[in-house]
Amino acid sequence: MSETENTRAAAAAQPTVLRADAMLTPAGAVAPAELAFDASGRITYAGSPRPDAELPADAAVHELGGHVLMPGLVNGHTHSAMTLLRGVSDDEGFMPWLAAVQGLEQRLTPADVATGLELALVEMIETGTTAFADMYHWDAGLIELVRGAGMRALIAPASFAPDTVGFPGVSPANGAAVTELTEELAGRYAEDPQIRIAYGPHAPYTCPPEFLSELAERAVERGIPIHTHVSESAAEVAQIQERYGATPAEHLDRVGLFRAEVLAAHCVHLTPGEIELFARTGAAISHNPVSNLKLGNGIAPLPEWQEAGIRLTLGTDSVASNNTLDLFEEIKTATILHRGARLDAAIVRASDVLDIATRRGAEAIGFPETGALEPGRFADVIALDVTGSSATPFTPAALVSHLGFAATGADVRHVFIGGRHVYADGAHRTLDAAAIRARATEARARLAALADPAPAA
Ligand SMILES: [Zn+2]
Repeated sequence: MSETENTRAAAAAQPTVLRADAMLTPAGAVAPAELAFDASGRITYAGSPRPDAELPADAAVHELGGHVLMPGLVNGHTHSAMTLLRGVSDDEGFMPWLAAVQGLEQRLTPADVATGLELALVEMIETGTTAFADMYHWDAGLIELVRGAGMRALIAPASFAPDTVGFPGVSPANGAAVTELTEELAGRYAEDPQIRIAYGPHAPYTCPPEFLSELAERAVERGIPIHTHVSESAAEVAQIQERYGATPAEHLDRVGLFRAEVLAAHCVHLTPGEIELFARTGAAISHNPVSNLKLGNGIAPLPEWQEAGIRLTLGTDSVASNNTLDLFEEIKTATILHRGARLDAAIVRASDVLDIATRRGAEAIGFPETGALEPGRFADVIALDVTGSSATPFTPAALVSHLGFAATGADVRHVFIGGRHVYADGAHRTLDAAAIRARATEARARLAALADPAPAA
């Protein structure tokens, strides 16, 4: 990237003070609350309001009565551009769903992928997500869309095998070329506070073991993380058992994957031995409960992961298996799911899931300087309106209860990322949301016309 671009990104924040009814901090709820950050986008104060504090002359002051502040949400696993495939194959099982989705993906053009990504950026920002981990077709042009929107992302160009072209309509790159591209991008964005790059081998059932071994070796050598899918469905576990005589994570361990920094999505069917493997190696898991439920893949053992001290993040997966990028839905689902399944209302707490969706998620995807409202961290912060019916009666003491069980992405009114005000009182400041939605609707209509036979007269 050029120096001008760097300067522009850095200069986008200005000294700012936010005052709100309540704020979620690592020490619990503060009410009423004040958050201040400087022009570098770092938090300088998080606590009770300081009416007499001397503010810089150019400070922006937002009096957000009727709002609460919390850290921006972190989406630990998604495939952004697949917003164009929202609602495809809603009622099929995992493998038929995958076939339907991949059939449409063969038809995507480079412009479609850009439009799908932009739509995801719009939806993520307006529902309070400030950072995400993604695996899909990626190139520098697409990464610049993320930077322009102001979001943070751990970006994994997806690959399958050295000679397999993953997205033929979009790029002629085979797995070997994607590996080279990944390393080139990792070098290019090494100093960028918004972007991290990972290898993205799709899954143990789609990638040959030699390819996974090679990527693991390259990952260790270069310090580049690996983002992959593991043990998503029972069918996958059976396939890997039959092919390699091991469970998926055992198989990945044998090929050396866990020597690298790993972010593994799903992990629904981990054995106790595999859970121990994650705990021992420090590999992170993205918990994607809505996708796992929607595709009939099962209920991942979150309580056991928590007990084992595994690094965790919460993810939506793509909207083709969700069908939204609203992490508040994921937070509530993750909190209540095991209560029902294990007949124990104390087994998962909303405060713990909120922590996974923010601070722990940010650490798991490699942005440890974000994720919590405390001095020194970057101001990745969102403000939610709490004057609506579903928040009433609102008391600051019920902040965690509100955020964990009642809030939705539609309540988000302001989003700051690294102090940059990207969403202001319900309006996007970095993206033309209406134009992007219109382009996405057109693109989907064209894809559908290509895929579906003409309806009978
Ligand atoms: Zn996925």
